[in-house]
Amino acid sequence: MSDAFDLVVIGAGSGGVAASRRAAAHGARVLVAEADRVGGTCAIRGCVPKKLMMYAAGFAQAFEEARGYGWTGVAGQFEMHRWAAAKAQETSRLEGIYRRMLADSGVELATGHARLLGPDTVAVGGRELRAQRVLVATGGAPAHDAIPGLAQAMSSNEVLDLRELPATLLVVGGGYVAVEFASILAGLGAKVTLALRDTHPLRGFDTDLRTRLATALAERGITLASGVGLKGLERSDDGFALHRADGSVLRAQAALNATGRHPNTAGLGLAEAGVRLDALGAITVDADSRSSVPGVWAIGDVTNRFNLTPVAIAEGRAFADTEFGKRPTRVDHRTVASAVFTDPPIATVGLTEVDAVEQGPVDVYESDFRPMKTAFAGGSARTYMKLVVDGLSERVLGVHMIGTDAPEIVQSLAVALTCGATKRDFDRTVAVHPTAAEEFVLMREPVRRHGAAPAAAA
Ligand code: NDP
Repeated sequence: MSDAFDLVVIGAGSGGVAASRRAAAHGARVLVAEADRVGGTCAIRGCVPKKLMMYAAGFAQAFEEARGYGWTGVAGQFEMHRWAAAKAQETSRLEGIYRRMLADSGVELATGHARLLGPDTVAVGGRELRAQRVLVATGGAPAHDAIPGLAQAMSSNEVLDLRELPATLLVVGGGYVAVEFASILAGLGAKVTLALRDTHPLRGFDTDLRTRLATALAERGITLASGVGLKGLERSDDGFALHRADGSVLRAQAALNATGRHPNTAGLGLAEAGVRLDALGAITVDADSRSSVPGVWAIGDVTNRFNLTPVAIAEGRAFADTEFGKRPTRVDHRTVASAVFTDPPIATVGLTEVDAVEQGPVDVYESDFRPMKTAFAGGSARTYMKLVVDGLSERVLGVHMIGTDAPEIVQSLAVALTCGATKRDFDRTVAVHPTAAEEFVLMREPVRRHGAAPAAAA
């Protein structure tokens, strides 16, 4: 067979696999190159194993709650190596599924580190491939350069491969990865300190979610060392020491570096081929994922737009539909929902209150309550929901929630936002009772109004 392809995709993660399969479905001859395991960050060392670890952590609280419901003798001991073995089996199963899906779609898989030799030539595994189009979908990897010493700590990759739970853990950072693993490892029984320079975790999220998450994490026994700059991490025989800007030192047996990720662009021959990279090393692309070089596209985390799996998949499919399906498609990044799998979880779609207020008059609706399930068992956990509504058009601009099932609930509401739903649409939606989600359609009066009140009807 000749080594000429309609499309060569570099990277068989979620985005690369989705793009390859969609392009092949449109009749393209496609090869995808992968240097590591097929499935990428999300399936192998990210979202999926992280969520399996989160489920494991949830049992401690479930056992506790069960007592409030009349169960006796419910308890147990978490043995991490058992979870690790089951997780390894599951990620292998998923990798098998990805490989099968590629094969069934007629996509050729090449193993090895790919490198652009020009805009239409890719070298991989000793082969030189001619490609009408090249799609770079190589994702990202944990960054170690925020402060000195971080390379000695675990990253999210290694924490998912732990076979033994550390007694004490220092989590460095306050973003998605930091809060999720702080919450999960504390749930499993580790004594966790979360060290972040900002006053609250999750910069960029709605302030009411950030403050409530900080409270909830503290209530679960996590020490929040916030509001002080971080200077450097030191490793010694008995663990790690994190030096802070105020001279204080935080110590723990293990450390997790969660200070962000870098796009995987090194060693791909991109700069040599003329592909423009930004200051962080991400590939610069336009709204159709075109790089600065004709014939080369890029999607997903390597472009550092919205570093979320479903966004990479959507960008990959949009590229394939546009280039091979005669169906020009663009991803609308405005109503991308996202979730943070802490305990309690967070989910959000649309504008934060602060961002919405910058655009015009805003009405804010809230609900804050103890969910039935926890309240009955004597728990103190609360659920908080917020709707950010355009004060003039009544269009719902943002939905924010922290509490049980937030990701599941907000996913459905993201459809409403994508459709341009107004507060009146929420009001005329009949509740499903008894649920937590019904609170989103039962919010009657705004708790705050920013800017001018809506004009009275003539
Ligand atoms: P984030 O960019 O979300 O967070 C990085 C954290 O590191 C921030 O709290 C940041 O602080 C901190 N930081 C960076 N530099 C320094 C420094 N010099 N000193 C002190 N603190 C520093 O990265 P993550 O690794 O958490 O996540 C990477 C990406 O992966 C995210 O963008 C997200 O899209 C994705 N992801 C999504 C998940 C999900 O959807 N549930 C789960 C996990 C990851 P500051 O805020 O002050 O800048």
